[in-house]
Amino acid sequence: MVVVERLVKRFGSFNALSDINLNVAKGEKIVLCGPSGSGKSTLIRCIIHIEKHDSGRIVVDGIELTDRIRDINSIRCEVGMVFQSFNLFPHLSVVENCMLAPMKVRGLAQSEARERAMVLLRKVRIHDQAKKYPAQLSGGQQQRVAIARALCMQPKIMLFDEPTSALDPEMVKEVLETMVELAQDGMTMVCVTHEMGFAREVADRVVFMDRGSIVEEGDPTTFFRAPNTQRAKVFLNQII
Ligand code: ADP
Ligand code: MG
Repeated sequence: MVVVERLVKRFGSFNALSDINLNVAKGEKIVLCGPSGSGKSTLIRCIIHIEKHDSGRIVVDGIELTDRIRDINSIRCEVGMVFQSFNLFPHLSVVENCMLAPMKVRGLAQSEARERAMVLLRKVRIHDQAKKYPAQLSGGQQQRVAIARALCMQPKIMLFDEPTSALDPEMVKEVLETMVELAQDGMTMVCVTHEMGFAREVADRVVFMDRGSIVEEGDPTTFFRAPNTQRAKVFLNQII
């Protein structure tokens, strides 16, 4: 589903990502972790082409990421993204937030878009709030709307960048539960998160980054119990 080969991303003379190689199979769930500043968000942002990479290749479902606008638009249709900050449109109701992109980008009729939005809002158990505005919802509810909104585009892969780190502790669980259900449905997922319970439950692979490189990867049980590298040990000691 995703091929990343020898990826390099610089900001000026600073190497934010150096020589990243990562393959994500269809249906695979990857948890990306590592210290702050290690390049996790930059990698995710390169995959959805919010950031342009400097060298190397990124191929998403057979589409090579280039500067061609047609490629960029097809990637934005295929890849759903959920951020730490929920980024809902404040002036649109919950259901309208979910209808906008399918109508504008996918060309769905309003009635079709509404129907699809309600199905996915039900899936994240927030359909009863469909007419409210984002500011009237809790953080956890807003993040579930953001997940439903991304799913309305029927993406082939979902990227999550610390989706629970801006939430109060009591709301983390409801968002993680939604993500677990999505994983159980077979969605291909790359999740930046330090939620180890989530990683243990759903991740096929944990990828640990430090200073712009992938330092170590493995199955969650092995990685959390007995990481190979000193850098991963130090990191795990800090988050436990
Ligand atoms: P993480 O998500 O792992 O915390 P990031 O991918 O956000 O790390 O950042 C990796 C490195 O790249 C950091 O040192 C950060 O300061 C730098 N960086 C990220 N975005 C920019 C930018 N737009 N301009 C300059 N430096 C950036
Ligand atoms: Mg980040």
